[in-house]
Amino acid sequence: MAGVVIDSLKFAADGGCITGKLALSSLPRLSDVLAGTAGCLVCELSGFRDTDNHDGKFGLHLRVTGRLDLWCQRCLAEVEFECVIDNHLLLMPPGAPESEWPEEELESDDYDAIPASRELSVQSLVEDEVLLALPIVPRHADCLPPVVLETEVGLSEPSPFAVLAGLKKH
Ligand SMILES: [Zn+2]
Repeated sequence: MAGVVIDSLKFAADGGCITGKLALSSLPRLSDVLAGTAGCLVCELSGFRDTDNHDGKFGLHLRVTGRLDLWCQRCLAEVEFECVIDNHLLLMPPGAPESEWPEEELESDDYDAIPASRELSVQSLVEDEVLLALPIVPRHADCLPPVVLETEVGLSEPSPFAVLAGLKKH
């Protein structure tokens, strides 16, 4: 699936479907925020036409699952995140006026809108969606912040000002 490029509208119109795996190490923007890049994402991308809503627009149905290791923002250790994505992405034709982008409506259901592209990198699409699905502040359900030892913050040392004050007295 790495390196696969599709003509998104044609893919959807043809009812295309591709499945495969993407190594985490092949996704540089995602790798940046991960605690480890071993493992992979299982992906399935299929085309559809929303005949009931959204003016019959074409879209892509993306499903991604995989286990990611993130950095806990509280204890600073690794924290596991089960990534499960099941998104419908409506393809907005080139030149579609902004008013046609049904943002308000989209927020209420599981639909998103992306610009249609003749050269859509499946790898980038998956990476974009996974980045959006990550928790903003990853952390364990139950953990404690790291203990800061007194010596590390210098509390046991006299401050330079206290030493100067002592000198002035003589
Ligand atoms: Zn933690």
